[in-house]
Amino acid sequence: MRHETGSNKEQCHGDISPRVFKDQAHRAVDWIAEYLEDMDQYPVLARTRPGDIKAKIPKSPPAISEPLERIIDDFQEIILPGITHWNHPRFFAYFSITSSYPGIIGEMLCSALNVNAMLWRTSPSATELEEVATDWLRQMLGLPEQFRGVINDSASVSSLCALVAAREYTGLNIREDGLAGGSMPQLRIYTSEEAHSSIEKAAIVIGIGQRGVKKIPTDESFRMDLQVLTRTIQEDIDNGVKPICAIPTIGTTSTTSVDPVKEISELCKRHGIWLHIDAAYGGSAATLQEMRPLFAGWEMADSIVVNPHKWLFTPIDCSILYCRRSDVLKQAFSLTPEYLRTAEADKVTNLMDYGVSLGRRFRALKLWMIIRAFGTEGIANTIREHISYAKRLASMIQATPNFELLAPVPFSTLVFRFSPKSPDNSDLNALNEQLMERVNQTGQVFLSHTKLRGKFGIRLTIGNVKTTWEDVALAWHIIQEKASELSDLNRGIPK
Ligand code: PLP
Repeated sequence: MRHETGSNKEQCHGDISPRVFKDQAHRAVDWIAEYLEDMDQYPVLARTRPGDIKAKIPKSPPAISEPLERIIDDFQEIILPGITHWNHPRFFAYFSITSSYPGIIGEMLCSALNVNAMLWRTSPSATELEEVATDWLRQMLGLPEQFRGVINDSASVSSLCALVAAREYTGLNIREDGLAGGSMPQLRIYTSEEAHSSIEKAAIVIGIGQRGVKKIPTDESFRMDLQVLTRTIQEDIDNGVKPICAIPTIGTTSTTSVDPVKEISELCKRHGIWLHIDAAYGGSAATLQEMRPLFAGWEMADSIVVNPHKWLFTPIDCSILYCRRSDVLKQAFSLTPEYLRTAEADKVTNLMDYGVSLGRRFRALKLWMIIRAFGTEGIANTIREHISYAKRLASMIQATPNFELLAPVPFSTLVFRFSPKSPDNSDLNALNEQLMERVNQTGQVFLSHTKLRGKFGIRLTIGNVKTTWEDVALAWHIIQEKASELSDLNRGIPK
């Protein structure tokens, strides 16, 4: 026992004692259980003002130890008020990601083991479970066996890794020579104007630059325009530009539109271009047979990103990069200094060879626990319910005077607006922004927004494991109530 310091008499080799750990960890688990059961007592969107939380925390760290009990008290009193409750069943903003009980247990065990799954030998279970869990999900998604999954922290990193593999696939030897080498042609990536910003960021990181990303316009359903894509690729080739990757999305961020993947995959095949599909959100819906038509052609991709931390009830973070050519991915990233060399390297998977980071968390544990605890049917049923709630709400919005849907609803996300007769669009934009803020201020619901062809659209997405139809109906009730309050207010204000 190291000498005891300060108020904590239970220190043990620099850490707290097992007894204190057990007491406080039990307390934390009790708190977690109550928190998750009793979400309604919290406003979904944090009500703090900028700086409120920081003002309550000392500027410098404590020199002597503080009792864990007091720290947990402070978590509840100081930190919790500044939390926006992503696990709330009426968190309908962005993509409403959610944790789940087996996922939380997986995270707890993961931090207890504190495994770094960089090499097979640094925890064979972590590597092999990652292979198994990602393969289970591959089967659930109906993807061919050639796809191998690697878990990253985010879709941004998964897509970045896919682009590095695509760059490697060109055979331009950029890995060794860099982009400045000799007679390097200009490189091009193709995606739609609705693609997630992570694609452009990845292009910035790998030196292709924002100008190297062609954002192809979309049609009236926000799907990539195939004719423009075909023409643009041909023009680039004619001008000596090297196309390296096309990135259609299945479930774009603003509207969840689905690009014509099958046709794009044929185009890519014709020109030898790497096809990466961003299905970070939409991918989970492929667990439903009836949704598979939306995924037609994705089996032809070279790589696909699917985020279990978006719509598969997995606590953040867990993003899977499925790669049909994992040899190319490995060729792009493998770099083994002497201190990481192992005798078994050619017989096993060393996960450090398949991405940017060396150190990696044991994320497969939670995914494995979730798939087992819910079963493939349990997962599919919940996703099916979310989609049915979204379709039901879409019909209600369509049937309500002065409201309109701004985009089709292929998954569980709706974009709509309140559209009473108004002299112009900018008035409606301001009105809908006010409406969204008023709804969010109730604390009962959290919505976000997007802009489609200049129109401000309120975005409501359903993805929380605990969301029921009653939650969705309550959100719709509040939206209508606030819209009618705003109408009354506007009527009262002389122009
Ligand atoms: N791709 C799509 C379609 C998304 O909607 C998002 C985020 O919402 C991302 C990628 C980025 O995901 P991540 O936060 O895991 O980087």
